[in-house]
Amino acid sequence: MMKFEDFQISDQLKRAITEMGFEAPSPIQEKVIPEILQRHDVIGQAQTGTGKTAAFGIPLLEHITEESHVQSLILTPTRELAIQVAGELQKLSRFKNVKTLPVYGGQSIGQQIKSLKRGVDIVVGTPGRILDHLNRRTLKLQNVHTLILDEADEMLDMGFIEDIEKILQQVNRERQTLLFSATMPPPIRKLSNKYMKQPKQVTISKGEVTAPSINQVYYKVLEKNKLDSLCRVIDSETIELGIIFCRTKKGVAELTEALQARGYMADGLHGDLTQSQRDLVMKKFRDSSVEFLIATDVAARGIDVQNVSHVINYDIPQDPESYVHRIGRTGRAGRDGIALTLVTPREMKHLRSIEAEIKMTIPAQSLPSVEEVV
Ligand code: ADP
Ligand code: MG
Repeated sequence: MMKFEDFQISDQLKRAITEMGFEAPSPIQEKVIPEILQRHDVIGQAQTGTGKTAAFGIPLLEHITEESHVQSLILTPTRELAIQVAGELQKLSRFKNVKTLPVYGGQSIGQQIKSLKRGVDIVVGTPGRILDHLNRRTLKLQNVHTLILDEADEMLDMGFIEDIEKILQQVNRERQTLLFSATMPPPIRKLSNKYMKQPKQVTISKGEVTAPSINQVYYKVLEKNKLDSLCRVIDSETIELGIIFCRTKKGVAELTEALQARGYMADGLHGDLTQSQRDLVMKKFRDSSVEFLIATDVAARGIDVQNVSHVINYDIPQDPESYVHRIGRTGRAGRDGIALTLVTPREMKHLRSIEAEIKMTIPAQSLPSVEEVV
């Protein structure tokens, strides 16, 4: 696995990355950062949440010099994103003298003009407001060396294509252009053909996003032996914390009771609990006073707990996307995770559609024999 240490970037940036708690580059970062550092135009395509901001932010900050004029313009579809991207850049540049300003509609233009006059290195803005400043000549783009289109597909959906073209025509031609997007619809491709110079295309498929740090296997089981099979599997694994997914609330309640009756430290999380009951269950799970959290997809939404070593699909999810969401609860922060799925003969079709979605084959493993289970 690659490390941030391996990139040709300054120690100040490396320190900031460490302080942000990033342990290793994400797949898109690993591929894109060296290309951007070499000043190539780059198209980076990867799904949401894969670290695209730092993928362009780190090499961009490496290229920011002491000169006092706008050196980079980043276009984003919404004001929230402008604020978020500017915030991430500010964190990455905390040991470097770089001024980043978010510029968006709905905020006083007078205030923005004042801030721009004081001198800014990186402007992060929405297309409409940037165009407004260009028309007022309160923003000059002649010295921009790096132009970034972030979340390009969303900018297209919001109808910003024309504004973007107007802006692109005003930016220094001798620039590096970077385009990031989760998807690549034809108008975005056209835009890149027109305004980018021999761009390097980096695409991270969904499979690659999940594969490297999560070890996935499945077990063929029979419906009538499912509970016993689950127990054999969890007894043979070294589990720090595990989340066990069921399809229904009723399933969660039944499995929780069955596991508790067999002496497992397990607690259930489902939609019928009150908020304070939920909080208590989560607290126990976080301090490891329960080892297993039994949950439905809905109840598990937004759960972010460190040290989840295992995700177990007691009931295989029927839609492939929820498989990806479920197993994403383990293998966090660069640690390896294990995802185990029980599959009955009737559920094989769901396994196949998951494999098609993640573009990889999930290997079958035979159930541990009773002797192997201590
Ligand atoms: P995207 O633009 O692909 O949707 P973001 O850039 O918003 O994703 O990143 C999602 C989250 O992941 C952010 O909270 C970000 O700080 C975090 N992140 C980015 N890179 C890493 C990394 N290498 N290690 C850990 N967390 C990271
Ligand atoms: Mg993003």
